[in-house]
Amino acid sequence: MAKTQFDYLIVGAGFAGSVLAERLATDLNKRVLLIDRRPHIGGNAYDYVNDDGILIHQYGPHIFHTNSQRILDYLSRFTKWRAYEHRVLADVDGQLLPIPINLSTLNKLYGLNLDSAQAEKFLAERAEPVAEIKTSEDVVINQIGTELYEKFFRGYTKKQWGLDPSELDKSVTSRVPTRTNSDDRYFLDEFQQMPLDGYTAMFEKMVEHPNISIMLDVDYRTVKSTAEFRHLIFTGPIDEYFDYCFGKLPYRSLEFRHVTVDKPKFQSVAVVNYPDEHVEHTRITEYKYLTGQVHEKTALTYEIPQAEGDPYYPIPRPQNAELYKKYQALADATPDVTFVGRLATYKYYNMDQVVGQALATYQRLATAEPNSNLA
Ligand code: FAD
Ligand code: UDP
Repeated sequence: MAKTQFDYLIVGAGFAGSVLAERLATDLNKRVLLIDRRPHIGGNAYDYVNDDGILIHQYGPHIFHTNSQRILDYLSRFTKWRAYEHRVLADVDGQLLPIPINLSTLNKLYGLNLDSAQAEKFLAERAEPVAEIKTSEDVVINQIGTELYEKFFRGYTKKQWGLDPSELDKSVTSRVPTRTNSDDRYFLDEFQQMPLDGYTAMFEKMVEHPNISIMLDVDYRTVKSTAEFRHLIFTGPIDEYFDYCFGKLPYRSLEFRHVTVDKPKFQSVAVVNYPDEHVEHTRITEYKYLTGQVHEKTALTYEIPQAEGDPYYPIPRPQNAELYKKYQALADATPDVTFVGRLATYKYYNMDQVVGQALATYQRLATAEPNSNLA
């Protein structure tokens, strides 16, 4: 490959890398080389039309939700939106029940007719107070007690993470807090919507700029000796960047089993969760609910957790945080490289949080630029 001259080499064309490429190219007129070892842009949010003509998400369901007007406004430069509020059912005791647990979950599961105040009392009687809430088991048992924990959380969490909830940080199951009202939405964020033409179309608009060159299907290792650049932005796994010098940081992987079914509708909501430990998959997603697409067939994805494979989830637990700190210290001592994104900062971040992190990183980089008027 011929020698090229760029201000920035950005490794990874997911949210972290694409937002930074767009900001640096558009606002600072920087020349950016954006690369990804996958054959597409969009990172884990990549979607595409499958052989049957149905828009699906290659790496499992991605639902956009945020409380940040700023992040929404930023992304709205690249896409229109379709209103969508996510609802999930869990297959428990032979019934499909709303999750997060809410008033109707309790009433359906136990054949009751409680109101909110009664549901609060019902849960308070079952809650088992934990003095210091540290783990993903503590946080649930403390709120709703062992029985509901075992029905809805234990099996799902053991499958998803390959660990008992007592071995995981409280932040993991805290993502799905129980309510005593009848709001059955999965997220409570102010803004909940899907990019109207899909994520990939949004990414295409974001990185379409004469200053941005894109190379796909290429690993950083093969580009680093030939590409000329002043500064590197790395959004892949941080332990890989440093050749695993402190040992491997654990990331959880998934197998995505995509199928098309020859009928218009498969299930009654976009996602059904399977907390039963003996069922291999954790959830089934039916995309037409997310995209609003009308089609005579329907496309599904089964998610089957794996120990090995592409890194999808940092695993929040104390020993992993300790190991990450060592890599972070090394990153801090490597000023010509900026680490950003879910894999490079080892954070269980949603898409909007990664966008927020990338925009904040841009501000820091822009301020440090010699001709910056942002300083
Ligand atoms: P990524 O999207 O992982 O992008 C990193 C890119 O870097 C990858 O494309 C990778 O190929 C590339 N790369 C890595 N190393 C190299 C290398 N050495 N050379 C070249 N390229 C490299 N968030 C939500 O807000 N809502 C959801 O509903 C939601 N659902 C999710 C469901 C699943 C199954 C998963 C796994 C995640 C979900 N997320 C969701 C989280 C969301 O995917 C992430 O927050 C976001 O995509 C992270 O963006 P990123 O740029 O940090 O990382
Ligand atoms: N969880 C669970 N049962 C459920 C849904 C979630 O035990 O029905 C737990 C599980 O540990 C999961 C975590 O809560 O990994 C976070 O769930 P979320 O839906 O946010 O996971 P993600 O979409 O990030 O995979």
